[in-house]
Amino acid sequence: MIDTPYIPFDTVFVVGGTHGNERTGVTLVQHWLLNPAEVQRQTFTTELLLGNPEAIQKNVRFIDRDLNRSFLSQYINGKTAETHESARAREIVANLQSGHTGKRTFAIDLHTTTAHMGITLITNTDPVNLAIAADVQKRLPGARIYCFADSDRINSCLRAAADGGIGVEIGPIPQGVVRHDILEITAGVVQEILDTLEAFNEGNYAPPDPDLPVYLHDRQMLYPITPAETAPFFIHQALEGRDYQPLAPGQPIFQDLNGQVICYEGGDTGYPVFINEAAYYYENIAFSLTRKMPLESLLATG
Ligand SMILES: [Zn+2]
Repeated sequence: MIDTPYIPFDTVFVVGGTHGNERTGVTLVQHWLLNPAEVQRQTFTTELLLGNPEAIQKNVRFIDRDLNRSFLSQYINGKTAETHESARAREIVANLQSGHTGKRTFAIDLHTTTAHMGITLITNTDPVNLAIAADVQKRLPGARIYCFADSDRINSCLRAAADGGIGVEIGPIPQGVVRHDILEITAGVVQEILDTLEAFNEGNYAPPDPDLPVYLHDRQMLYPITPAETAPFFIHQALEGRDYQPLAPGQPIFQDLNGQVICYEGGDTGYPVFINEAAYYYENIAFSLTRKMPLESLLATG
């Protein structure tokens, strides 16, 4: 049995456009700003937020640096060089963080991916966040939970500024475009999360299934660095599109146009995600590896 403290949330933020070229969340927030009743519930107030309006206007991921990696205190408190995103992060914190608002807040941050990840709920290891994600997953059986242990990576996300939060990652869809089916799927996921939070606030809430599989972030896998005269590598055809499928040692992960193949040399089977994510090319990241484990063991290890 997993015990979850039932402290209701006062305000739920639905955020789109934290990455300006992920248009699904932008379009949904724009729609709900005109139709707010669709996202209101009885036990909390729903606030709608566009994360990075200047990046949205330019249809780019960010202006100076990734806003969703800009919420650590050193960026917000001016201990690093000021950027467009550090200033925007400071504004968002002032509107969202309970220390400023006096409210207990939850953030639903809407993202899209070019990878074949279906519906992914991203969370940290906070037991309330995990329990809420698990309850949402019950309503959306095809959804997967991708979890990050406590780290700068997860603590620098926008939703880390709230008391609770879930990142919604839907794909595949190209960057910079809106498509009807991804809009409908994402809108449905948001409604399920809002209904879950309503039930949570009412105490009408079943403990999560301890055996539910969760994918714990392990590490990022980089494209091979090759000398300039060597042909570059790309995702191997056997790995392409196989997000969340087991990757065993010895299986191919990269190839080049000369037929050279590079295989996975990890010690045990991993579960890749964000395979061939367009947003990560500038960081040379080819995919991320996760470990699949039951929810209970994750909570036990923190
Ligand atoms: Zn994103």
